Amino acid sequence: MSMKLKKVSYVYSEGDAFEKKALDEISLEIPDGQFIGIIGHTGSGKSTLIQHLNGLLRATSGAIYYDGENIYQEGYDMRTLRSKVGLVFQYPEHQLFEVDVFSDVCFGPKNLGLSKEEVEERAKKALTQVGLDESYYKKSPFELSGGQKRRVAIAGILAMHPQVLILDEPTAGLDPKGRDEILDQVALLQKERKITVILVSHSMEDVARYVDRIIVVNDGKILFDDTPKQVFQHYKELESVGLAAPQVTYVVKALKEKGWDIDTTATTVEEA
Ligand code: ADP
Repeated sequence: MSMKLKKVSYVYSEGDAFEKKALDEISLEIPDGQFIGIIGHTGSGKSTLIQHLNGLLRATSGAIYYDGENIYQEGYDMRTLRSKVGLVFQYPEHQLFEVDVFSDVCFGPKNLGLSKEEVEERAKKALTQVGLDESYYKKSPFELSGGQKRRVAIAGILAMHPQVLILDEPTAGLDPKGRDEILDQVALLQKERKITVILVSHSMEDVARYVDRIIVVNDGKILFDDTPKQVFQHYKELESVGLAAPQVTYVVKALKEKGWDIDTTATTVEEA
C-alpha cells in the first residue's frame, strides 16, 4: 500500500494557551515494501506523525493518500485502513491482557470476523514469525521477559495481516540482547513478507543498521529524507538538532568500518 502525505500539519489544543504545532507541512511518499526509520529527538513530532498514518489523528490541514485515495474524503473506510496499517505502540506489553500468549495473539484477528481455524492459523504463523514456538502458547504473558512480551504484542498486530507495520520505539527499555533480537526479527519479517515497515526510534544506531531510508524529523518538519549513508553525511547537523553526539559519532564510525565512504574530518569520529 503506497502512502502519500501532502503538506500535513497538525496542531494540538488549537486556539488555547497550550496550542502546539506538532507537524508543519510534512510531505512524504512511501512506496510499497520499504524499510524506513523515522528518527528525531523527544518532542520532534514522531508519534504525532505515525498516528496520522493509520488515521488515529486527523490532520489540521493537508491530505493523506493510500493507494491514491484521499483518506479524508467522505465515506472513506477508516476501519479497514486501521487493520491494514498496524501500529505497535511504545511498551505494547502493557496491552497484553489475555490469560495466555496464544489467546492474546488471537484477539485482534478474532475481531475481524474470521473463522476460528483461520484465527488460530494466523496466530500460529505470527508467533513463528516473531520467533516464539509452541512452548510459549500456553504461558501467561506475565511469565515472559520484556523482549518476549514485546514479540507477543508484535505477533498480535501481524496476525491482522497488515500491509504496513509501524513500530514506535520497539526497543525501548530492552537490554542490548533483547534489542538485537527484536530488530533482527523485524528485519527478517520485512524481507519475507515484503511489507512496509516503519521503525520509529531516537536511536540512530538501531535505525542505521537496518533500514533502507531514514526520515529525520525535527520540530515538526522533515530535516532529511534519504538513505542512511546520505543522511549520515550530515552528522554535524544531526548533532546540532539534539541527536546525541556520541551516538552519531559511533554510528559514523561503524558505517565507515562497513566500508562506507563518509566524508568526515571531525576528530570526534576517531575518538568515538
Ligand atoms: P515525539 O514522538 O517525537 O517525542 P510527539 O509527536 O509526541 O513527539 O510530540 C510533538 C510535540 O507535540 C511536542 O512538542 C509535544 O510536547 C506536543 N504534544 C504531543 N502530544 C500532545 C498533546 N496531547 N497535547 C499537546 N501537545 C502535545
